[in-house]
Amino acid sequence: MRTKVKKQTWMDSIYKVKEKWAECFMRDAFTLGMRSTQLSESLNNDLKNHLKSDLDINRFFHHFERAVKVKRDTEINSEYESRKSLPRIKIPTPMLQQVSSLYTPAIFEAFQTEYGRSMAASAHMLPGDNEYMVKIGRLIDGQYATFEEEYKIVGDNHQQTASCSCGKFERVGILCAHALKVLDLMNIKLLPAHYILKRWTREARS
Ligand SMILES: [Zn+2]
Repeated sequence: MRTKVKKQTWMDSIYKVKEKWAECFMRDAFTLGMRSTQLSESLNNDLKNHLKSDLDINRFFHHFERAVKVKRDTEINSEYESRKSLPRIKIPTPMLQQVSSLYTPAIFEAFQTEYGRSMAASAHMLPGDNEYMVKIGRLIDGQYATFEEEYKIVGDNHQQTASCSCGKFERVGILCAHALKVLDLMNIKLLPAHYILKRWTREARS
């Protein structure tokens, strides 16, 4: 697209910061799965409530600061509220019970989602060294069908590891549904300590 235009355009400036908005450049970025524009869109939305186009610059900043303060207060309150309560465990398995009191509530929710997805996974073992292909399925017209991309997982029972080619753990810091499926196939029923990142624990946040 860029090569079709001779002049310098806004595209040149936005291309320079591509790591901040283009998903293909964000694979190694630590985003907890949040898309880049989500945060600014939500702030834009909040600001709209405070702004009218005829504001002068002083009044603009006055309103802007007020909007930011409201956002910060909401964040502090919800953080406080969530710390008081224990998260809701949807299926009382040893692994979910184990991590529910370790992870912060938001991280636990994200983990629990992956855990649920792992139950919809189908796996087959490749000939050789504990390698599996795993695909997540869904109920479609009353039939179980796999439809998501298939990933390769290398399991190691001795080291208690399951490394998945989707790279979610490296990117987000919680184990993906594919790796959780393989841990279960290896009869590993508790989350190994090396998969519980300290920065996602209640202990680190308190
Ligand atoms: Zn995966």
